[in-house]
Amino acid sequence: MQESGRPRLAVYKLSSCAGCQLQILNVEDLLLDIAAAVEIAYFPMASRQMDPGPYDIGFVEGAVTSPEEIQRVKQARQQCRLLVALGSCAAFGGVPANKNRFAQRVVEQQVYQHPEVLNSVEARPVEHYVRLDATLRGCPIHPEEFLELVKGALIGATPRLPNYSLCLECRLRENACLFAQELCLGPITAAGCGALCPRLGRSCQGCRGPAEGVNLAGFARLLQEKGYERAIIQNQLGKYAAAAPGVALAMAALRWEEERR
Ligand code: SF4
Ligand code: SF4
Repeated sequence: MQESGRPRLAVYKLSSCAGCQLQILNVEDLLLDIAAAVEIAYFPMASRQMDPGPYDIGFVEGAVTSPEEIQRVKQARQQCRLLVALGSCAAFGGVPANKNRFAQRVVEQQVYQHPEVLNSVEARPVEHYVRLDATLRGCPIHPEEFLELVKGALIGATPRLPNYSLCLECRLRENACLFAQELCLGPITAAGCGALCPRLGRSCQGCRGPAEGVNLAGFARLLQEKGYERAIIQNQLGKYAAAAPGVALAMAALRWEEERR
């Protein structure tokens, strides 16, 4: 904390689309209240002024995809008393981690004209390299949860962010269940979005990552029994959470069982 007595906040960006940072900026009314309560010391997307650390609370957006980002995330850990993953890229590898399923050079050659200038590694969540104090789920995050977390940090309270399955939230809202007709990831996805997609008649795409304690391998097997091909299951499970613990294992188990039939 600085002499002003206000906690110092930092927002770092790694490999990401910046959508989660944009969500923070989208709550501009409330951001003014926050700005009065905390000192926004490092937030390159929002301000040209970048004050050096240490910081009280740091948010990291994006997956770690290069040796430079490995160093940056380690530095962020050293600079911040509390370090928070901001969104699914930082928490589970998110969309960038889909590239891990292919040979590194193959992907790069398909996407970039001059892949030889790249210096990238497999996309990993922040926690692969450093300890985290909290995670804000979502692609993008929900601004209310960001505010909840900042307020919690200000008063020293642990924010209550849901970690149970989306189906509970969806059923409480009395949405019609889509599971019989569509590949809905609600049973294994963490709640907290208000079951937005099922509410609009669309299946859950898993953007908030796996809920705590879910049986990913069992769910993948269930989908296969329902007639979905392994590639489809892998695409869906991995869309936002390819590097989440348990996803690769669930897919390996499915492949193993398939090869032994
Ligand atoms: S989690 Fe989604 S919205 Fe946030 S940075 Fe990653 S891709 Fe963008
Ligand atoms: S629609 Fe999806 S999230 Fe909602 S109850 Fe059915 S399976 Fe669960």
